[in-house]
Amino acid sequence: MASASIGALLENRGLKVSIQKLDPYINVDPGTMSPFQHGEVYVTDDGTETDLDLGHYERFISARMTKLNNVTTGKIYHSVIQKEREGKYLGRTVQVIPHITDEIKGCIIRAANKEDVLIVEIGGTVGDIESLPFLEAIRQFKADIGKQHVLYIHLTLIPFISAADELKTKPTQHSVQKLREIGIQPDILLCRTDRDLSKEIKAKIALFCNMDHDCVMTAKDVKSIYEVPLCLHEEGLDDKIIELLNIWTREPELAEWKRLVDRIQHLKKKVTIGIVGKYVDLTDAYKSLNESLYHAGFALDAQVHLSFVDSESLQGDEVDLSKIFSECDGILVPGGFGDRGIEGKIKAIRYARENKIPFFGICLGMQLAVIEFARHVVGLTKANSREFDAKTPYPVIDLMEEQKAVMNKGATMRLGAYPCVLEKGSKAFEHYGEKEISERHRHRYEFNNAYREKLTQKGLLISGISPDGKLVEIIELKKHPWFVACQFHPEFRSRPMHPHPLFLHFIEAALNAGLQKQWLHLKTGGESEITSLAVQEKTKKII
Ligand code: GLN
Repeated sequence: MASASIGALLENRGLKVSIQKLDPYINVDPGTMSPFQHGEVYVTDDGTETDLDLGHYERFISARMTKLNNVTTGKIYHSVIQKEREGKYLGRTVQVIPHITDEIKGCIIRAANKEDVLIVEIGGTVGDIESLPFLEAIRQFKADIGKQHVLYIHLTLIPFISAADELKTKPTQHSVQKLREIGIQPDILLCRTDRDLSKEIKAKIALFCNMDHDCVMTAKDVKSIYEVPLCLHEEGLDDKIIELLNIWTREPELAEWKRLVDRIQHLKKKVTIGIVGKYVDLTDAYKSLNESLYHAGFALDAQVHLSFVDSESLQGDEVDLSKIFSECDGILVPGGFGDRGIEGKIKAIRYARENKIPFFGICLGMQLAVIEFARHVVGLTKANSREFDAKTPYPVIDLMEEQKAVMNKGATMRLGAYPCVLEKGSKAFEHYGEKEISERHRHRYEFNNAYREKLTQKGLLISGISPDGKLVEIIELKKHPWFVACQFHPEFRSRPMHPHPLFLHFIEAALNAGLQKQWLHLKTGGESEITSLAVQEKTKKII
């Protein structure tokens, strides 16, 4: 968040900025990691599976992330070992210093190529064994390209110990000490804390950490992540950065960010979305998805409440879905892998379809919507995806042709941005407002064309397909207020100031459904939450 916010501030000063994440783990990319381990896998336009931080970068700055923006230990070693096998080191012993560190520096230089400023974030904690080569590389970097071109910003923790009623500077002192041991003196300290740091505390930190007083800055907890750039600006962070880097720029233009934050702090309406998934205790697993729903809410003046429903908990016959979803104005089934909880998700989709509750399916969510429709509308009992039942009599979702010979798991799915053509007259066409769109993918399975006719005859609308007509990308239901599901991941394209059209219209449909529910409640003599006349007017119109 700090990197993304610094990026936003510098960009709004007129600089060309990009951000790179260096991840010290050994996986070549996070694509093979479970969301339980590392949260969401963020996919870029060029089809790189990256750390979820890159999602924040794209949401905060205008630069598009590519494979150059996420580097892992695995990637570095992979490349060094390949070069060694090719004999490129000409008989030398290959070592962490200089070969690994040179490889890291090469990655930084390549990412910095066309930028005024490249922000390089190193994941992990100072003192970790695996982050040492990265820290050594950025230490060397200053000497390589000149002092005036490199700035070290260190993010530390200042915990408040409530029993002692005291803020503790020790973790910060120790972490700076660790950094100095390896030859890096931070220029700026960003201190994570839940309250403002007094001048005295900042002075103490500065003394113990060998810093200037005005380089110790508070990075205080805030309610919304979109407040962070403004808070850091208040602390003087961007002024200090350009002063130390000796760059001349204009004052940042922050009016748009201020308007956004003001909006977020005064949202008048409320809407609840039920998200049926298997990573319910883990908001990081659906990071971009959650943000996209919030973005749509910002535009529609609505606070979006996310209600995570464990798909496995829906599976028994005795489960009453009307109770579970009683507070939900819309239901969303996100992407996922593996068969755990699949039947629960299908049940939720059936409930949304039959009860005309706005439904949004994403990737796996679309595949399951197709299965549900095939089973319960077309009558293809036991229809399934071959991912979950290799012997299903009706594989309405099947492995993609080009996936059949693939053996390796890493970076082998259908990944990245692909074009999609929309059907005139469909909701998708109306929402996007254009005929051809481009969206990011991450999947191995697809809609099986052998079932296209059977399903469309019964009212399933294929509203988005690949330009060659072979791949089904979006489906909708004609006789439903809002039932849209897509094979791609629109959440990777939503921005706080530019919500994605599908999320925007899903939230709008959910808001309308919510109002309708309140209106019915009112008519039957219940207590109403509808207070403003304007809202009542809107309700009447919908009814
Ligand atoms: N498991 C499904 C597939 O591989 C869906 C993937 C997803 O939701 N990202 O096609």
